[in-house]
Amino acid sequence: MSQAREEVIQACEQESCCNGSFSEHLPEHFGENVFSLKVMKEVLSPKAYVSIEKTIKEGGKLDASIADEVAEAMKKWAIAKGATHFTHWFQPMTGTTAEKHDSFIAWDNAGGITLSFSGKELIQGEPDASSFPSGGLRATFEARGYTGWDPTSPAFIKEGPEATTLCIPTFYIGYHGEALDKKTPLLRSMAALSKQVCRLANLFGIDTKGKRSYCTIGPEQEYFLIDKAHFNARLDLIETGRTLFGRKPAKHQQQEDHYFGAIKPRIMGFMEELDRTLWGLGIPAKTRHNEVSPAQYEIAPIYEELNIGVDHHMTLMEVMRQIADKRGLACLLHEKPFAGVNGSGKHNNWSIVGPDGKNWLYPGKTPHDNAKFLATLCAIIKGVDTYADLLRVSVASAANDHRLGANEAPPAIVSIFLGEQLTDIIEQIEKGGAKTSKEGGILHVGVDSLPQLAKDTTDRNRSSTFAFTGNKFEFRAVGSSMNPSAANMVLNTIVAEAISDMCDQLEADKQAGKDFNASLQKILQDIIKKHKKVVYNGDNYVPQWQVEAKKRGLPNLKNTPEALEAIKAKKNIQVLVKHGVLTETEIASRYEINKHAYNTVLVLEGDCAATMARTQLIPAGIEYQKQLADTIKSVGTAGKTTGQKKLLKEVSSLIEQSLSDCDALEAALAKHDAAKIFSGMAKLRVSIDEMEGLVPSYLWPLPSYAEMLLMNA
Ligand code: ADP
Ligand code: MG
Repeated sequence: MSQAREEVIQACEQESCCNGSFSEHLPEHFGENVFSLKVMKEVLSPKAYVSIEKTIKEGGKLDASIADEVAEAMKKWAIAKGATHFTHWFQPMTGTTAEKHDSFIAWDNAGGITLSFSGKELIQGEPDASSFPSGGLRATFEARGYTGWDPTSPAFIKEGPEATTLCIPTFYIGYHGEALDKKTPLLRSMAALSKQVCRLANLFGIDTKGKRSYCTIGPEQEYFLIDKAHFNARLDLIETGRTLFGRKPAKHQQQEDHYFGAIKPRIMGFMEELDRTLWGLGIPAKTRHNEVSPAQYEIAPIYEELNIGVDHHMTLMEVMRQIADKRGLACLLHEKPFAGVNGSGKHNNWSIVGPDGKNWLYPGKTPHDNAKFLATLCAIIKGVDTYADLLRVSVASAANDHRLGANEAPPAIVSIFLGEQLTDIIEQIEKGGAKTSKEGGILHVGVDSLPQLAKDTTDRNRSSTFAFTGNKFEFRAVGSSMNPSAANMVLNTIVAEAISDMCDQLEADKQAGKDFNASLQKILQDIIKKHKKVVYNGDNYVPQWQVEAKKRGLPNLKNTPEALEAIKAKKNIQVLVKHGVLTETEIASRYEINKHAYNTVLVLEGDCAATMARTQLIPAGIEYQKQLADTIKSVGTAGKTTGQKKLLKEVSSLIEQSLSDCDALEAALAKHDAAKIFSGMAKLRVSIDEMEGLVPSYLWPLPSYAEMLLMNA
């Protein structure tokens, strides 16, 4: 560590600086809890550093002979930061992160202990992880799972209340190398895409020797913050992450006064601590603001290379929950915590950087750059159209079902928004020889320059599932609580496939001595003719789009059970297998895991709803019923009770209705009938929510929507 940096950090630790001037030292603090290349350069021998730098930058294999040295340096660095333990940190199929801590202590053979950490411990772990979902991959005879270091994603320090832990990002595989996590196939898909992009780059005459291509991700995360006391008073939030009951309050988002509004001090405190913590972890938190619904907010980082961006994102979600908890708040990452108000998504901004180091979704200034851009764009159009169902599967979950298709989030139909100008350009390419009216000419790919694309004209459509936003695509169907790996794994694979097809043709044409630009133009023309049906620039929320999409033959997989079946389609299995992203067995296991997860959520929610109704909410109704009946009786003929009698009747009938709805829900639960559980919960909710509107608030045992959404600061 450089002396200046060390001094700053020491001074800050002793609190003799940063009193109001944290920002002054932000560049030094950024990444201070990360075992980065910068740190490694200072603490490793030149030989070890050169080797590991090569592994990280070029994505090659780790040289095992330097592992001990790296481990020793990492241990020293971590101990200086208060670490007593290390953990392999991984992303099992549960969708969250997992860790099993081991302390550095070892006997020193002299009656005491020493602190040790070997290269072997760094590189490989074998957590006793037989309880993680494997979808049948790990049969009874072989329940072992291994974690392996992903050196491209740096180790980091996680702070606990009393000490810290060294976290080593790893992938998680079975004995025969089968993927048991979300990271392994993501890394494989990145390699697959890189291979095809480099192949295309070669055809464009770009030097690819020793180079690779990678994707970038900038996930925008929406979330809710509510008071922890409100959270703790609701079994549904505690158990399922969303409210299963609750009347829509008089005031919600209709005045649109929350979006981008001034941030309240308590929330600001949360955001400030969040940003600081993230920066310390090298996570480039950039944007923060209020979202559409009251109590809803957003955070977005500066984009990063995909696997690092995903690791950072998983850490971000965890840190958000912890900091909220520490500050008496609860951070809700569920896709639909409150019915009737805006849900939360994770806009997955994604792009490709070629072996030339340039963003291939940035229309450049030269015809050559434009040709690269148009080829990439058309490959994406083809990939998304051909595998729209697979993309839909990648964002399918019980929680996201409440959001996709509602009038606030992209629908379950996957379509592409290109904007008027770009659509005009692809139409020119499609027409090939004919004159177009708009620009008065025909675009010759690789020969003519594109008109400058105005960014603001491409970003106006907020209802599209998959939108081009100037220099990247934004996949908006990803759910707020999801690990974004699956969506990006599919995206990488289907684009790799489309580019691979393109390269097959271009290479054949080259062999036949055809002109490169002319053959590319023809390929792009064919793609647009066949796949432009997936391009839709209109409003995705209107019902006519459902009709129109059906006419165009676009899949509309409305819920998770429907979507999951698409995994089994031959073309979908083929594309994942062909590019070495998932084997057929791994795909089958993922299908099982997702199906099981869906059913588990439904049963849990159904159970929770029935319990709350029977033990908390119907009793509140009955108590009120008794109060009303007693009052009417004691008033007798002394006063008029017509209105009260009517009220008593209404309350009584809602109690009866709720009880019979409960019976029906419980019958569905006993049969594990997912569809009936779903509809049974919805039905029960109607009578209970109506009852909430009649029973006095002092008898109602749950905090209301108004309290939760409006009283968080
Ligand atoms: P908005 O979508 O709200 O208009 P921006 O487009 O500026 O905001 O950025 C949203 C997110 O997209 C940010 O996280 C940003 O870093 C990310 N982003 C920008 N360029 C790229 C890119 N080339 N690849 C991936 N993500 C990107
Ligand atoms: Mg955006």
